[in-house]
Amino acid sequence: MTQLKGNDFEVVHDSAEEDANVVIINTCGFIDRAKEESINTILQYADVKNKGDIDKLYVTGCLSQRYRDDLEEEIPEVDAFFGTLELPSLLAKLEADYKHELIGERWTTTPQHFAYLKISEGCNRTCSFCAIPLMRGKHISRTIDSLVQEAKNLARRGVKELILIAQELTYYGLDIYKQRSLPELLRALSAVEGIEWIRLHYAYPSKFPVEIFDVMAELPKVCNYLDIPLQHASDAVLHRMRRQITLKETKALIATAREKVPNLVLRTTFLVGFPGETEAEFQELLDFIKETEFDRVGAFQYSHEENTSAYDLEDDVPAEEKQARANRLMEVQQEISLQKNQAMIGQIYKVLVDRKEGNFFVGRTEGDSPEVDNEVLVNAEENYLRVGDFAMIKVTDASDYDLFGALVDKE
Ligand code: SF4
Repeated sequence: MTQLKGNDFEVVHDSAEEDANVVIINTCGFIDRAKEESINTILQYADVKNKGDIDKLYVTGCLSQRYRDDLEEEIPEVDAFFGTLELPSLLAKLEADYKHELIGERWTTTPQHFAYLKISEGCNRTCSFCAIPLMRGKHISRTIDSLVQEAKNLARRGVKELILIAQELTYYGLDIYKQRSLPELLRALSAVEGIEWIRLHYAYPSKFPVEIFDVMAELPKVCNYLDIPLQHASDAVLHRMRRQITLKETKALIATAREKVPNLVLRTTFLVGFPGETEAEFQELLDFIKETEFDRVGAFQYSHEENTSAYDLEDDVPAEEKQARANRLMEVQQEISLQKNQAMIGQIYKVLVDRKEGNFFVGRTEGDSPEVDNEVLVNAEENYLRVGDFAMIKVTDASDYDLFGALVDKE
């Protein structure tokens, strides 16, 4: 989007209007539901194009990287498909130049006060269920310098929270610096003026570099928050998933994390219905969740993806059973989440105000990432807050996934 703007295009993100000259759809090709959503969006705009309301329709991103030939055949209304590394070709199609001076400049689609910062692309792991390396290739880290530059640009535009993302965060630096360098990156980003929160998403648990917890404890700007997708707890399933970790090692890692960062908020995701997952193996997972009491949990249902190594296994857990297991898992977590939220009543938290919605200001604590975690609701008739500001909020009530609070003192 920044490149197009730099070429004097008028760019609108996620427009509800259907009267643009050119529509570019960025797709996901990860699992069945994401592919379905991507295809439905392409078909919606193919219709719009057939009606003559738009001139050109282009598709880019992971779905077109993975299935370009099929898509070209099935949806001829699309003028061209581009893979994940073909931004220059897409720009050339629009007669726009790829401007190197714009690298590191961002036009964000998130609210002004937070931004995602992608620190690397691709993944060198070989998890048997995962199609990401097929689409995104091998791990490529961005340099610390370029990320700091981008963070400075974002901070200058009002960003206060950086949400670091990567397919695999802990591998950062191994390719370009020959050593895991996330701690160094965090130190460098912490020095950027204006940035107040730095949040970590998607860390692979096997051989986890535990010094990250020391850095988290040491640097106040690094949120005491870690998203560490664990996928399963049964050793047999973890082995079939090729996760290179056992339940015992996982438990030891969590114990270390909680010891080094006592108020750490742990977020994880689990995959249910993996080929051959028995009721007993699933039960092992539920027991692990009850015992560990994660702060945040998400559940995915296994999606049988061609060209992954798990594709050779039989997708033998019926769809209804996958759904039932995901529901059972989330019910267990709901109870845990409610208890944890209720324990917050009466305490004061620093909250970043994301938006105003109806009669409420809606924000998040340091332990909550946008869209996926809890929110703090503050009555807008009784409290005056500013979107994008931090505020000290006393929690007065709590439900499963929401907290309610009142302003104590503005920062
Ligand atoms: S670490 Fe994550 S992105 Fe990489 S292969 Fe495993 S699940 Fe996929």
